[in-house]
Parts: sequence; structure tokens; C-alpha cells
Amino acid sequence: MTSIHPHSKAKALKPGSRRPAKELCSECGLCDTYYIHYVKEACAFINQQIAELETIAHGKSRNLEDENDCYFGVHQEMMAARKKEPIEGAQWTGIVSSIACEMLDKGIVEGVVCVQNTKEDRFQPMPVIARTSEEVLAARVNKPTLSPNLSILEQIKESNLKRLLVIGVGCQIQALRTVEKELGLKKLYVLGTPCVDNVTREGLQKFLETTSQSPDTVVHYEFMQDFRVHFKHEDGSIEKVPFFGLKTNKLKDVFAPSCMSCFDYVNSLADLVVGYMGAEFGWQWIMVRNDKGKEMFALVEDQINTKPVISQGDRKQAVQQSIPAYDKGVTLPMWAAKLMGVVIERVGPKGLEYARFSIDSHFTRNYLYVKRNHPEKLDNHVPNYAKKIVSQYQLPDK
Ligand SMILES: Cc1cc2nc3c(=O)[nH]c(=O)nc-3n(C[C@H](O)[C@H](O)[C@H](O)COP(=O)(O)OP(=O)(O)OC[C@H]3O[C@@H](n4cnc5c(N)ncnc54)[C@H](O)[C@@H]3O)c2cc1C
Repeated sequence: MTSIHPHSKAKALKPGSRRPAKELCSECGLCDTYYIHYVKEACAFINQQIAELETIAHGKSRNLEDENDCYFGVHQEMMAARKKEPIEGAQWTGIVSSIACEMLDKGIVEGVVCVQNTKEDRFQPMPVIARTSEEVLAARVNKPTLSPNLSILEQIKESNLKRLLVIGVGCQIQALRTVEKELGLKKLYVLGTPCVDNVTREGLQKFLETTSQSPDTVVHYEFMQDFRVHFKHEDGSIEKVPFFGLKTNKLKDVFAPSCMSCFDYVNSLADLVVGYMGAEFGWQWIMVRNDKGKEMFALVEDQINTKPVISQGDRKQAVQQSIPAYDKGVTLPMWAAKLMGVVIERVGPKGLEYARFSIDSHFTRNYLYVKRNHPEKLDNHVPNYAKKIVSQYQLPDK
């Protein structure tokens, strides 16, 4: 296994000196390597080029007239899925880890770029190139923090790897796709997860301390489809906090500026995407974007149950109401938040409509963030599909 301790080089440098995206840097790791030379082209926050890269990766860009394409990106198929025998300690049922293990075990790839954690801190990301299933499994579960996955890029050429799987989130994959042809690989597979509202390690601490009753024992959390954040604690207990009870006024600055400016929630450029938000509660959500994705998915088909995705409810009013509420940092008292959680769980959006609810809420918030903080970037930085999604809502003028 080859591992990198995060930001070791960056720390020795003057702040910002190797971060051309400045405060919008998502710390994807590219700038910790000599591939920094490509940053102006590759960085998702300097040069938004999703449509062009979709065409290269998938043979076509998304069709904005097709609602599912517009929201979720190019795909051949999507479904709800879960492992028949979930992997203990995985974020969900461990479909991501299982695919990566199969690819190594079957010799389809020689290494897997994934994220373990440091010995001292379960949430401090440590990108590695895993060479065995054990090393892949040691990377299971989200590290809900910005992770410099691409800091391992130099080692790919040095270790003479020719067939590689990279697991990562949208901003990492966008930069990877741009430098892909420089890596000397014969075959690259990309397994993506959706990603939103990521934080620095310090930001995560603030989030946990503000939201959980026992921040030090949280081993894993997720913003679930039942409109609650589920915190899993060391003793196995689950603490549920309704979204509407989050202390928005205290949490407004917690998310990284890169994530407040991101419009690639669904990881448009991965071959295969494994998330949860387009599936019903308890299920994972799989999107096969291209033939490589199909090949990867086929490796675990016998290990999982699948069912078609559904779409129920109407998100639009809830999204429109949340825009001024978020802006003003409105926080409901806990009893009201719980009540609202129960009601919205019964009548609120489900399946793909829940995913659209989440995308709409984040894209409108992020559009306003870019407009207010980086107005000069607004037009080029916001992809056309996101402009179309945002245009369904009334936003404040300023
Ligand atoms: C920061 C983050 C935010 C997410 N937000 C959403 C969301 O809003 N909606 C949604 O549908 N899905 C989201 N996901 C995906 C979802 O939480 C699960 O990761 C996914 O369903 C896979 O579950 P699993 O059990 O198959 O994964 P596991 O088998 O547990 O594997 C998890 C994999 O994630 C990788 N990983 C962990 N942390 C990071 C990181 N910081 N950066 C890059 N890779 C990482 C690891 O290398 C590991 O291989 C998010 C994922 C991350 C990392």
C-alpha cells in the first residue's frame, strides 16, 4: 500500500502559494503534485468544463430536455440496491468497497485509490493506493471531510501502475479526468459517490459539537432520506436530528467555500456512481453512466438485491420556502422541527423526487453564494444544467 499524509507538502508552503483556486480550493490534492501545472485547466473551481468532459468520458453530454439527464447526468440505467450481506462498518451496505475488492481480486486493476483514516483520528482522511482487499476494506466508510485524494497521482507513474480504479467525489474526479491522459495508464476506472456540504476537519468538529449530543463518540453520520441526520455512535446507538432543527445560524459558515460553489453533486464524470439519495430509505442508489460502469456493476450483481427507483411527491414548494429560511438562518425549536420531520416524511418527496429536492436546495443556495461572493465567476462557473434547475425558483435580487 502506498499512503500519503495529507497536506504534508502544502503545510511547508506559504498559505495560498500552491492553491490557485484560493479560498475556493477543495483540497483535492492535485496541487500537492507536479500535475499542478494543469491546475488552470483541471480545477473544478477555476475552469468548469463538465459538458466537455462528459463527452470525453461517456461519448455524449447530458440532454437538458430530459429531466433525469438534466438532474442526474448521463446514464444508461439507475436502480436502488443493497448488499444481501452488508459489510460491517461501511457507510451504507458497502457496495463501493465490494466493487473495488472484486476488481483487485479478479486482476482487473492493480491498485485502487481510496481514503483510509489516520491512526489518531477516524475522520482525518489519508488517501492511499490500495493493492489488496484488506486495504480497500480499511478505507470503507465516509471521511466527511475534504480529502486530497489526488495527492497520490505522482505515485501512479512512479509505481508503473497500468490499470487503476479511482474512488472519489466530483471535484476530485473532474480534475482527474483532465489529467487522465498524462498518467501513463492503459485503463482507468472511476467509481464515484455523490457529495455535498463537505467540511474541513475543524468544520466537522464544529458541526458535530453543534448538532450531536455526544460529538466525541460519533463514528459515522448521514443526511438521510427521512429528513433527519442519523449519527451512529461507538456503542451502536443511532441519534436522529431533524434537518429542520439544525442550528442553521451557527452552521452557515461551516461548509467549505468550494462546496458552497459546487454544482457537481452527482459526480457527473464517474463511470459508475453509488449514493443513496435517489433511492428509498434504507436503499443505495446506483447510476451506471457508461460501459465501464456496466462492467464494474456486473461484478457485484450476484451480491446485491435491486429494485427500480421510484419518484413520489412534489418538492417545489418546500425548496422555494427553504430559500429565504436558509438565508435568514431560521432555526425551529426542536419540538416543531420533530413534528415537521414526521409530517414531511409521510407526505414529502421520495426516491428521485427526494434527490431533486436535495439538488434544488443546494443549487439555489450555491448559486446565491457564487453570485454574492464571486459575481465575476457566476456565468462561466455555473453549468447550463444548473442554471436551468435554479431558474425554476424565485431568488432574492441580492
Ligand atoms: C463527503 C461525502 C458526502 C456524500 N454526500 C452524499 C449525498 O449527499 N447524497 C448521496 O446520495 N450520497 C452521498 N455520499 C455517498 C454515500 O454517503 C456513500 O458513500 C455511498 O452510498 C457509498 O456507500 P458504501 O457503503 O457503498 O461505501 P463504503 O463501502 O463504505 O466505501 C466508502 C468509500 O468512500 C471513499 N471516501 C470516504 N471518504 C471520502 C472523501 N472524503 N472523499 C472521497 N472519497 C471518500 C472511501 O475511499 C471508500 O472507498 C457522500 C459521500 C461522501 C464521501
